[in-house]
Amino acid sequence: MKELTHYINGEHVKGTSGRFADVMNPATGEVQAQCPLASKSELEQAVAFAAAAQPKWAATNPQRRARVLMRLVDLLNRDMDKLAEALSREHGKTLPDAAGDVQRGLEVVEYCIGAPQLLKGEYTDSAGPGIDMYSMRQALGVTAGITPFNFPAMIPMWMFAPAIACGNAFILKPSERDPSVPLMLAELAEEAGLPKGILQVVNGDKEAVDAILHNDIIQSVGFVGSTPIAEYIYATGCANGKRVQCFGGAKNHMIIMPDADMAQAADALIGAGYGAAGERCMAISVAVPVGDDTADRLMEELVPRIEKLKVGPYTSGNDVDYGPVVTAAAKANIERLVQTGIDQGAKLVVDGRGFKLQGYEEGYFVGPHLFDHATKEMDIYKQEIFGPVLTCVRAQSYEEALGLAMDHEYGNGTAIFTRDGDAARDFANRVNVGMIGINVPIPVPLAYHTFGGWKKSVFGDLNQHGPDAFKFYTRTKTVTARWPSGIKEGGEFSIPVME
Ligand code: NAD
Repeated sequence: MKELTHYINGEHVKGTSGRFADVMNPATGEVQAQCPLASKSELEQAVAFAAAAQPKWAATNPQRRARVLMRLVDLLNRDMDKLAEALSREHGKTLPDAAGDVQRGLEVVEYCIGAPQLLKGEYTDSAGPGIDMYSMRQALGVTAGITPFNFPAMIPMWMFAPAIACGNAFILKPSERDPSVPLMLAELAEEAGLPKGILQVVNGDKEAVDAILHNDIIQSVGFVGSTPIAEYIYATGCANGKRVQCFGGAKNHMIIMPDADMAQAADALIGAGYGAAGERCMAISVAVPVGDDTADRLMEELVPRIEKLKVGPYTSGNDVDYGPVVTAAAKANIERLVQTGIDQGAKLVVDGRGFKLQGYEEGYFVGPHLFDHATKEMDIYKQEIFGPVLTCVRAQSYEEALGLAMDHEYGNGTAIFTRDGDAARDFANRVNVGMIGINVPIPVPLAYHTFGGWKKSVFGDLNQHGPDAFKFYTRTKTVTARWPSGIKEGGEFSIPVME
């Protein structure tokens, strides 16, 4: 049995806690490796190395730091196939989708190469007589990030690339379900020239997370995962005086207006609803056609497409649309929620229950499901299913459709499909959701914009990547400077104001 490691101070280090998590092959249901679960003292060791290495890294000029990231981009491209294969093996997603996972992280590394420009401060010449005022952005010190299983390459890179570009040390606590790619990323960063101790991987579960949250040296914590854990990490991290940003779950609605191109909408729903087995925080899990006629036309286009979906292991290459879900527990939870949908009266139009794949009977494959006539009181509508289950809630008007997206507790992403510019503009303006697609089903912003939801999909202020990341990973310091020749007024006892 392969025993995975931590990556501490430039070395692969065996776990010493004696606790391990099974890393499964979701396609076969077999245990393929053991992931060490760090104790508090293992985390503290990593923090000590980070704290020792960070000042020198922060003092390295930003252009030199950016050159490390430039080399990292080359190495990520060099090892793309290897990374994608390791990612698919533990996560289960198809190879092209795994390569996309790496690529969307790589794009943030590319953005962070702009660190010298992005870290430039502000300067006011002659803010007063002989007085200059300037601000600079300085690294926080030791930072940490806790990431989910569903994007084991992209989300770690969304965090560590800006963190290290800004001159911080970063400790990554990846998901214990698919820890191999994060370990490979840390190795590549060091091959690119990153000093030891600046990017470390500490594998673990709640114990390691709590050690991060209660560590006095760690200055900031980034988290991406489910909402209950996001809420816990935000509250605990803030109570311990840390800067915290947490991104949680989602239930993304796609509104289909009567004037939409129904074939285009159905194609979009197929990819956005079932791609990656629905295990994306930006997956569309709710379709909201406006009017029964629209809903009927949509169903006509959608059902044959769903019935043609090919489900299988990543080793089948490009022949597969989506793979297994990540664990037996995830599969059982999806099946449980599907049953609540049936029990609570939704119409199961495409029934993926009992799906079995010859030769992979023990794998965590879930057939595609489509519910119609769901209502907002049902569990399949209220809860994040995180599986290949699309739920259709029919609305009788645009206002009712908008209201559904607005009243839902999650607010990560949403989309509208229409040819009507007024409707699209009104929707983008009024809806209380963070990322909006207009005839685009999964509106994940590119690296130079920022990523983040609203409502229960986020806890904290600044978004991920783009300019916000450079704010999150730095503190502003503002200097007001006057040289001795400028002091002429003697002592001043009231606050200086600009008259
Ligand atoms: P998860 O919340 O189970 O785990 C996320 C991380 O938290 C992992 O590193 C895990 O080890 C750790 N963790 C788990 N339980 C913990 C506990 N009790 N205490 C402390 N730490 C704990 O999430 P997941 O299943 O890995 O990922 C899927 C979820 O992530 C979905 O809800 C999805 O919507 C969400 N997600 C959100 C975004 C976003 O940007 N909003 C992006 C990707 C995924």
